[in-house]
Amino acid sequence: MGAVPEGARFLVGLSIDGSKEVHDRHRIDKHGEPTAPDAWDPARLPIVGTPESRPGHPGSVVTDWSVDPEEYGYFLCKVWDEWLRRDVCKVLAVEHDGSVYACDHYVYPKHRRGNLLTRKLGSMVFDPEQVRFGYAKSEKLPQYCRDCSYLTDCWGECPKNRLLRTPDGEPGLNYLCPGLKKFFAHASREADRMAKRLLDAPAVARPRI
Ligand code: SF4
Repeated sequence: MGAVPEGARFLVGLSIDGSKEVHDRHRIDKHGEPTAPDAWDPARLPIVGTPESRPGHPGSVVTDWSVDPEEYGYFLCKVWDEWLRRDVCKVLAVEHDGSVYACDHYVYPKHRRGNLLTRKLGSMVFDPEQVRFGYAKSEKLPQYCRDCSYLTDCWGECPKNRLLRTPDGEPGLNYLCPGLKKFFAHASREADRMAKRLLDAPAVARPRI
């Protein structure tokens, strides 16, 4: 390892999840409750828009230092504006070690689909377990999301973040919902314009947006 420049400040994070039993013994929330996926009691989830649905309340399901949904929406809007201004049409690369999981937020043994060195990506993508995982994202949505005008942009965002109940008490609403709505309202007009440009462009052309 090379010399660290004077004044360099960085943080190395190491996360070990383990089995559900080990995870829930060592990684509990502030009320001492388990935090492995699917461990929440739906009847006890806070309702969106209440103080408990945000950080900083004793009854909140997230830590005091968790991102606030409204502030998350503000962040997304700013990143969107920056991306539009400087990075649109640029391609990013994602690193991996060859193992493929259902999702970055579900890196658990039961969600491992295989390894690129031994299994074709297409076969993992269309693995019946993976297909079920994908459909569960929409099939488990509360009615509040099904009636939302941003449904087809959002689909309830990541299932791992569905920590709230809707105003009429149905579980399964995303903790970040207020921020997501703010973002979709901000970005949708420009996104529609970009989609139209892509659809109108000849198949071989790559439009400058
Ligand atoms: S913005 Fe909120 S209500 Fe609409 S689909 Fe997303 S999570 Fe559901």
